[in-house]
Amino acid sequence: MIEHMMDRQLMISSLIEHAAQTYSDQEVVSRTCEGTIHRYGYAEALSRIKRLANMLKDYGVGEGDRVATVAWNTHRHFELYYAVSSIGAICHTINPRLGPQQVGYVLNHAEDKLVFFDITFTPLLAALREHAPTVERYIVMTDAAHAPADFPGGALVYEDELAARSDSFEWPIFDERTACGLCYTSGTTGDPKGVVYTHRSTVLMAYAGNSPEYVGLSSRDCVLPVVPMFHVNAWGVPYSAPMCGAKLVFPGPGMDGASLHEMMDKEKVTISLGVPTVWLNLLAYLEQSGARLDHMKMTLVGGAALSEQILRAFEEKYDVRVAQGWGMTEMSPLGTVNRPPAEREDLDDPAVLARRLKQGRCVPGVEMRIVSEAGKVLPWDGQSVGHLQVRGPWITGAYFRHPGDTLTADGWFDTGDVANIDPDGFMQITDRSKDVIKSGGEWISTIDIENAAMSHPDVAHAAVIAAQHPKWQERPLLLVVRRKGADPMAEDVRLFVKERVSRLAEPDAVEFIDEMPLGATGKVLKTELRKMFADYLLSA
Ligand code: AMP
Repeated sequence: MIEHMMDRQLMISSLIEHAAQTYSDQEVVSRTCEGTIHRYGYAEALSRIKRLANMLKDYGVGEGDRVATVAWNTHRHFELYYAVSSIGAICHTINPRLGPQQVGYVLNHAEDKLVFFDITFTPLLAALREHAPTVERYIVMTDAAHAPADFPGGALVYEDELAARSDSFEWPIFDERTACGLCYTSGTTGDPKGVVYTHRSTVLMAYAGNSPEYVGLSSRDCVLPVVPMFHVNAWGVPYSAPMCGAKLVFPGPGMDGASLHEMMDKEKVTISLGVPTVWLNLLAYLEQSGARLDHMKMTLVGGAALSEQILRAFEEKYDVRVAQGWGMTEMSPLGTVNRPPAEREDLDDPAVLARRLKQGRCVPGVEMRIVSEAGKVLPWDGQSVGHLQVRGPWITGAYFRHPGDTLTADGWFDTGDVANIDPDGFMQITDRSKDVIKSGGEWISTIDIENAAMSHPDVAHAAVIAAQHPKWQERPLLLVVRRKGADPMAEDVRLFVKERVSRLAEPDAVEFIDEMPLGATGKVLKTELRKMFADYLLSA
C-alpha cells in the first residue's frame, strides 16, 4: 500500500533556504585569495547565491549544463555550489593540482560551458583557453580591483556581475535524481573518470552522515573544512554545515600550518576535516611554534589512513579528539566513520589503539561486504581479508560518459580497497588492491607497516611497496623520508618496525628518499615509487 506522505523532492536549494531562515546570522568566514577576511551570515549568503543564479540564467546556463570551478575553499566557491546546482545545472569542481594536461582533459570531457576561477589560477586557465572550445565565458572570482588585466580574450568579474543583478529568484523544483555536481577521480593511472552526484544523493548523504555517530555537526560548532571543495565536495561539509546551522570557516589558499592555525584560533574552530598530510603540516607548525589548539574538539582524518603518530599527537599533546573517515569520490564520499568514544582511552592499550586506527562503521545507507578472490562473500570476523564492495543511494552506478560496467554482476561497487570487518562492524582497510604485497601467496598489509614506521621519532613520512624477491616473489620495501635534522640508520628503523608488525610483514629493507611523491589530493603516489625502485632486487 502506498500511503499519503508528501512526495517532496530532496533539493539542494532547501538546505541553504533553511539556513538563511533559521540561522540567518550564523557566520560564514573566508580567507580570500586577495588576502582579506570576508564574513557574512547565511541570509546574506543566500541573497548573493540568488544574484549568482540570475547571472547564470542570463548567460544561458540551463538544466544539465556543466559549469566548472577552479577554486579554493571560499565563500564564493560556496555560492557557486548552491547557485549552479539549484537552477538544475551541474557544478563541476576541477582539482587544479591535476596539472594542465588533465585539467584540459576534464574541461573538454565535461564540455564545460562557463569556467569560474580564483585569481591564483589565472595562468593555468589562460594557457588552456585555446584548448577548451566548449567554454563560452570565463569568470574570475574577485572584484574589479584585483581582476587580471591581461586574461586572453577577457574574463568577466564575479563581484561586478553579482552587483548588477537582483537577489530575487524562485528556485525550481525538479526530479531529485537530477544531476547537481561532477567530480573527476584523481586517476593515478589513465585518464580521470567523472562521478556525477544528484540532489537526492547529496541531500541524503548530508542527513545520514551528519548524525552524532558520524560527522555530527551542530549550531554549537564552528567547522573548518581543510579538505578542498574540489575534492569530493569537501566531504559534504558545504551541505551539512548549513543544514544544522554550524558556523563555517573557509581557509582559502592558506593551507599551510601557520595559516590554518590562525583561522582555527581566531574563529574558535571546534571541528576540522582533512587528509593526513595537512595534519602533519599543522602538527609540525604547532611543534616548532609552541602554539596550542584552544577551541578544537575534534579533527576528522580521511582520504588516507590515520597514523598512530597523528592520533597520539592530537589526543595526547593537544587534547583534540580524532575521528577517522573512509570513502571515495565514487561514494560522495562518506562510507564509514570511526568516531572516538566519549571517554578518553589509554592509547597504550594495544586493543584500544588497534580499534582507533580502523576506518570505522558504515554510515546508515551504505552497505558493505568483503569478498575473496574467487568471489565468495567473507565473514565479519576481523580476520578474513577481501575486496571491499559497497552499495547505497550516494554511491555511483556508472561513470560520466564512460562505457563499460562499473558494478559487479549483482550490483555492488568494488572499491579497489582490501579490508577486514570485525564482529562489531568496524572496517579496516589493509591496502589498495593494486598496492597489496603478495608474498608467497599471502597478502601483506602495507598500511600496517607504514603506520608502524611513522611512529618512529625520526621518520617524517613512510610508504611501502613490493620489491621483487627470489623466493617469495614479493616482499615489503619500506621507503622513508627522514624528519628534518634527524639521521636514523636504515637498520634501526627496520628493527623498530619489526617489533610492531606481524612476522610476515617485517620489511626486508629500508631505503631513504628525499621527498614523498604526492598526488593531486595529497596521497602518496605509489606508482611513482614503483617506477623509482623498479629494478630493486631483494636477496634471499
Ligand atoms: P578518492 O576518491 O581520491 O577520495 O580516493 C579514495 C581512496 O582513498 C579509497 O578508495 C581509499 O583507498 C583511500 N582512502 C580514503 N580514506 C581512507 C582512510 N581513512 N584510510 C585508508 N584509505 C583511505
